[in-house]
Amino acid sequence: MTSEDLIVGIDLGTTNSLVGVVESGFPILLADENGRRIVPSVVHYPADGSPALVGEPAQRRHALAPDRTIASVKRLMGRRIEELSATEKDALDSTVVAGPGQWAEIALEANRHLRPEEVSAEILRRLKAVAEAALEQPVTRAVITVPAYFNDAQRQATVRAGELAGLTVERIVNEPTAAALAYGLGHTGASSRVAVYDFGGGTFDLSLLQIQDGVFTVIATNGDTRLGGDDLDQALAGWLLRQSGLTDAPGLTAQVRLLEASRTAKEALSSEDSTVVRLPFLEAGRSLECTVTRADFETLARPIVERTRRHCLRALSDAGILDPATELDAVVLVGGSTRIPLVRRVVAEIFGQEPDTSQPPDEAVALGAAVQAGILCGRVRQVLLMDVTPLSLGIETFGGLMNVIIPRNTTIPAKAGEMFTNAMTDQPAMLIRVLQGERELAKDNWELGRLDIDFPPGPKGSARVGVQFNIDANGILTVLARDTATMTDRILEIRDAAVDVDDERVEAMIAESIDHAWEDMTERQWTEARLKSDELIPAVRQALDSIGLDLPAPERDGILTALLAVEAAAAAEPHDLPRLKQANQALDEATEGLAARLVEKALDDAFGGP
Ligand code: ADP
Ligand code: MG
Repeated sequence: MTSEDLIVGIDLGTTNSLVGVVESGFPILLADENGRRIVPSVVHYPADGSPALVGEPAQRRHALAPDRTIASVKRLMGRRIEELSATEKDALDSTVVAGPGQWAEIALEANRHLRPEEVSAEILRRLKAVAEAALEQPVTRAVITVPAYFNDAQRQATVRAGELAGLTVERIVNEPTAAALAYGLGHTGASSRVAVYDFGGGTFDLSLLQIQDGVFTVIATNGDTRLGGDDLDQALAGWLLRQSGLTDAPGLTAQVRLLEASRTAKEALSSEDSTVVRLPFLEAGRSLECTVTRADFETLARPIVERTRRHCLRALSDAGILDPATELDAVVLVGGSTRIPLVRRVVAEIFGQEPDTSQPPDEAVALGAAVQAGILCGRVRQVLLMDVTPLSLGIETFGGLMNVIIPRNTTIPAKAGEMFTNAMTDQPAMLIRVLQGERELAKDNWELGRLDIDFPPGPKGSARVGVQFNIDANGILTVLARDTATMTDRILEIRDAAVDVDDERVEAMIAESIDHAWEDMTERQWTEARLKSDELIPAVRQALDSIGLDLPAPERDGILTALLAVEAAAAAEPHDLPRLKQANQALDEATEGLAARLVEKALDDAFGGP
């Protein structure tokens, strides 16, 4: 195999990154000159301007030069400044500023701003060098994994990071899918359903997969991009401060040291019952020394770990799995945080069965990425791999409602479309807002982009605009709008500039859609009833004007009363949905005779169609 054919698999993690390939039919991870396979996702920019340091050497400088050292940059990839919470900015220790287009950047120095993909590119360059040294050949092509919840902008930023590092990104793969592939290769035989529980340093993902005859299908995913081991470190650090009576807010260097010590203690507590944290001269000559027991840690960790439960339950319900204990053949653990005994107990509780721990949890994603790379370059016999859309995609329709075109958990690549028409007479153009999310109202969902399509003027309902959504194998969305009268096409590729995300955060989206399900449904029904009244009122008025006098007086009065009742119900505050629905229906019934006469008189156009 020549070097041009070789493709490596990369787990570009928030906390740790790894690179692997398939050799002689088996995925292996590549180690650096010191035999280490895990590269901490930390980049240090020396003050003297010499090349950036990546991994362990950068991590060692973190405490000394926190302002020149960047960790967890993945949280900033493809994100706008207004999307970031204060906690997220704090978690970085770097100054986050708004760059062009409001994209988040890191201010290294007053006049040196770094885009997150430039920082990620340093990590990828390092992994590329590790792979080239280990394989003794050039490496130019890669498969890179991302969390299932990464949106288009975040995936695009990841592709750009690869390109900056001199890698052609052949495929972006969801992390849980890659991990399942790593576990799945070991599983042979009959059809099975598997849950992948990935609890890493910065993200949590749960995926449910169907595996049959070497075909992997993701049947549901759910998760939170801001939930991971970092939260446990923070919780423990806070506890340590309180225990030691060091109440002053520690400086940046002390904070970094404290977090490092907390992480070490947390990791030790996965195998020991207690550990001692010693931080000499932590702040203003004062030292911290404290014993932490596993029980202490579990008390702190419990509420954080519990937050994964609702995501698991949601995915199970999406997949129609009522009894995971009997319907799931395995639950596999992924991510370093699943080494924590408490996490394993919670997982066993949620799924009613002991999790499978046959793979090293922090290496599974990279192993799966290597397998996917191996498939692409022909080193592994073809295994079909299907992914799903984590959130629904659609467009805004009349009345501000979300019209779903591709529902969440649809297997990708996927293509779907619908025909739309003009809501108003002589409307010159239609604005198509592309939305992502689970809420019933357009305004509560993410706007991914918008495009305008012109059409020749005509009566209401005369235009025919086809809207097609196409998601490719990388989860990248192309929207095509076509005016069928003129065959004019407008194409929107969801690129950076087009991504206009509102305040809602994707990880909160699903939780919110559950919390607001009742309200949203009522709101949707109200909007639909309102639209119906808005259509009825002018149509009935117009009909009364033209042929009202032909009607018997009692019938005419009946219609007028019903009409006024609809108007009153539509204007009533607070909204009274049953009242409006009933008034609409009464008006419908009262105007039956009127409608018949209109038809007779061939005045149906005046009524706005049948
Ligand atoms: P990511 O995918 O987010 O980059 P990893 O899967 O490598 O992260 O997991 C990193 C997280 O796992 C860190 O928070 C780290 O502290 C935690 N971790 C690693 N080993 C252990 C352990 N033995 N016990 C508890 N947590 C661990
Ligand atoms: Mg990971």
